[in-house]
Amino acid sequence: MTDVLQQIPAVVDRLRAAFGSGRTKPLSWRREQLAALRAMLTEQEDAFAEALFADLAKNAAEAKRTEIHFVVREIDHTLENLDAWLAPEDAELPERLLPGRGTVVREPLGVVLVIGPWNYPLQLVLAPLVGALAAGNAGVLKPSELAPATTAAIARFVPQYLDQEAVAVVEGAIPETTALLEQQFDYIFYTGNGVVGRIVMTAAAKHLTPVALELGGKSPVVVDAEVDPVVTAQRLVEAKFLNAGQTCVAPDYVLAIGDAGGKLEAALADAVRAKFGDDPSDSPVYGRIVNHRHFDRLSTLLASGRVVVGGQTDREHKYIAPTVLADVSPESPVMGEEIFGPILPIISVPSLDAAIEFITARDKPLALYAFTESEPTKDRILAETSSGAVGFGLPVVHLGVPSLPFGGVGESGMGRYHGKYSIDTFSHLKAVLDKPLA
Ligand code: NAD
Repeated sequence: MTDVLQQIPAVVDRLRAAFGSGRTKPLSWRREQLAALRAMLTEQEDAFAEALFADLAKNAAEAKRTEIHFVVREIDHTLENLDAWLAPEDAELPERLLPGRGTVVREPLGVVLVIGPWNYPLQLVLAPLVGALAAGNAGVLKPSELAPATTAAIARFVPQYLDQEAVAVVEGAIPETTALLEQQFDYIFYTGNGVVGRIVMTAAAKHLTPVALELGGKSPVVVDAEVDPVVTAQRLVEAKFLNAGQTCVAPDYVLAIGDAGGKLEAALADAVRAKFGDDPSDSPVYGRIVNHRHFDRLSTLLASGRVVVGGQTDREHKYIAPTVLADVSPESPVMGEEIFGPILPIISVPSLDAAIEFITARDKPLALYAFTESEPTKDRILAETSSGAVGFGLPVVHLGVPSLPFGGVGESGMGRYHGKYSIDTFSHLKAVLDKPLA
């Protein structure tokens, strides 16, 4: 047994004792911890950016925007609104109970476990931590072993900045996560794939621990025949090839209505060249695939259609060019699982009805995007499909809006967070009825 494995029960006991002592409950402690987390991110910004480059070849600007500053924004939004979010909420009482008072009080849950994936290895453990701390909890972070440099940086800096009695980082892989899941927590917040999501939920059931499962899936993009293909292509390229396509809310595939596909093909090829140059392997803003297992998986998907742009690979450097595939059959391998890489298939459908039918016949996606200027089309998409979120005209960006809830539905997950939604996720909403005795 490794040292880490042996220490896990004691780590959780320490946090439980800290929570039991009441130290995490005062608003002052919560604010101090959030300020300390903010200081860690700004003072160690370069160290985190270097780690993210080492793990995923994320360029510094992207690492700051989508990971480091992302969490700073989440902290600022939380600090600004925390008093209001935590204030007891009046609840209207039925007349027969008057005089009297009904309130909803948010109380912390206790010790929470946050398990993160490798694709945004910093953001996806620290953004949940913001909510957990703001709600007054103690917590364990388990960052992904597949992003070892970022995980090491988190394990190094979190204890330097945050209250060590109440926040711990456990490094390691499946054995360590398994050992953590045997412990009793008051909430488990898991981000990753659905197979492990099921393992997490099974382990949580043993202790009746509530969970949030932030999973993935194939997020479709409906493109109307009438829209400007140039603007559509530019926004699709920005969203799809961010982090080399390894983003949970990345557009997975395009459903092009009528002749939209034909118009998009040339525009997408132009947009890829405009963003990454003629040879994206030289581009300073294009990332790499996380490991050879995912490189090999993605490489086999390139044969699923006609290559419009891209298609080049370099196994040694885990490089797969930003690729658009046309003439893709719904039965082809690229349409099997979430792609989670820089390949964008275009499937032609004759009508909006066919697009909606295509989407509803499959698992509920984490995000659904549509490029259309027709309000009736938007209304139909909202009313007739189910997904974690909907983005009209701008994929991925909703994830960075802290006033919007972020989470999936069905196979794309359960639970939601960011901003006020994080407070509610990491709190118990206690009902209080106060009836005067006389
Ligand atoms: P991963 O392989 O890094 O796994 C995530 C975590 O699960 C790690 O901490 C790992 O230690 C743990 N784990 C792995 N196997 C385990 C097991 N057998 N038992 C217990 N714990 C185990 O990441 P991943 O799952 O490959 O991440 C990619 C997936 O995550 C994609 O499906 C993506 O869409 C999804 N994702 C979702 C979101 C979201 O916010 N909804 C964000 C990012 C990624």
